[in-house]
Amino acid sequence: MEKSNNDMKDLQPLFPELHLTRPIIIAGPCSIESEEQTLSTAKELAKNGIKIFRGGIWKPRTSPGGFEGIREIGLPWLKKVKEETGLLISTEVANKTHVELALDAGVDMVWIGARTSANPFAMQEIADALKDSGKDLPVLVKNPVNPDLDLWIGALKRIYNAGLRRLGAIHRGFSTYGKHLYRNLPHWHIPIELQRRYPNLPLFCDPSHISGKRELIASVSQQALDMNFDGLIIESHCNPDAAWSDKNQQVSPDVLNVIINNLVVRDETSSTESLQSLRQQIDRINDELLELLAKRMRVTCEIGLYKKEHKMPVIQQNRYNDLMERLVKNGEELGMSAEFIRNILVAIHEESVRQQLEIVNGNNGKI
Ligand code: PEP
Ligand code: MN
Repeated sequence: MEKSNNDMKDLQPLFPELHLTRPIIIAGPCSIESEEQTLSTAKELAKNGIKIFRGGIWKPRTSPGGFEGIREIGLPWLKKVKEETGLLISTEVANKTHVELALDAGVDMVWIGARTSANPFAMQEIADALKDSGKDLPVLVKNPVNPDLDLWIGALKRIYNAGLRRLGAIHRGFSTYGKHLYRNLPHWHIPIELQRRYPNLPLFCDPSHISGKRELIASVSQQALDMNFDGLIIESHCNPDAAWSDKNQQVSPDVLNVIINNLVVRDETSSTESLQSLRQQIDRINDELLELLAKRMRVTCEIGLYKKEHKMPVIQQNRYNDLMERLVKNGEELGMSAEFIRNILVAIHEESVRQQLEIVNGNNGKI
């Protein structure tokens, strides 16, 4: 695993003048549909204290024939939101023309969608257009549709290398195949690793696109806050059931207000003595785990030598299956999920096989 590095150390806050506190909320409809829908949604959101408005003007749809956005005729409506409510306005851009038109309309921030951040050519085009504008426009980059942290970081770095410093990342989950609880699987370890590598990069969660359904927005939002995300971007529509896109995952501004008011923000700096002592216990247990693993690997090496002498193959599938079955069962009885136990065993087994192969291939016992 790559170590935390100093890249993107000089990032600047997105909107220092707003003195935003955690969680920063960005809200608004999936798509801008009409002047009336845009303004009435924005007014209700502003009344409830929201400060940053989102609205998709250009909509990248998976299948042709869906609503692909009202396009630039909607930009003056966004501008009106700003004039009439004081909300900051943001929209999605996917190419150079979008960037130029959005800047002309006075948008305060843009985000880059999941289908675009997966495409380095599109990202470079957007980065170049932003550079040419000469403005340090705040830019949020959604994770690519596929669970590829390097691709996500690459997309962010293209914007950073273009000289922009007011950057943020949005976790919107990852595409999957088949039926699942979530529309896009969260794979929380990926945004958490991003946060570990770039602690000063504001991290937003998009519970609307992760969950795909209204009922899950509150719980996904709470999970994100518990994982120390800085903010949330949530789809909100004045009449969700009539929305032209993503209607199942949009909530009215009033429902959004209830969701936000019920969120519990746990302050990570308030560390108590008992937490300290629990952390010391964790540190000790981690050390013990490492020692146990090393001990296990030493036994693995002895087995490797035995297999070499007796010309046995390194992998013995039956033994592996039995071991997996027994430990998954025991692990579940101890309150851990089967998936967790399997993941750990697969990782341990991979390392054991690697070490045994070194031995069998002549690197005797030198680990
Ligand atoms: C959106 O935010 O409306 C959108 C299209 O999202 P994503 O790129 O996450 O699918
Ligand atoms: Mn949407």
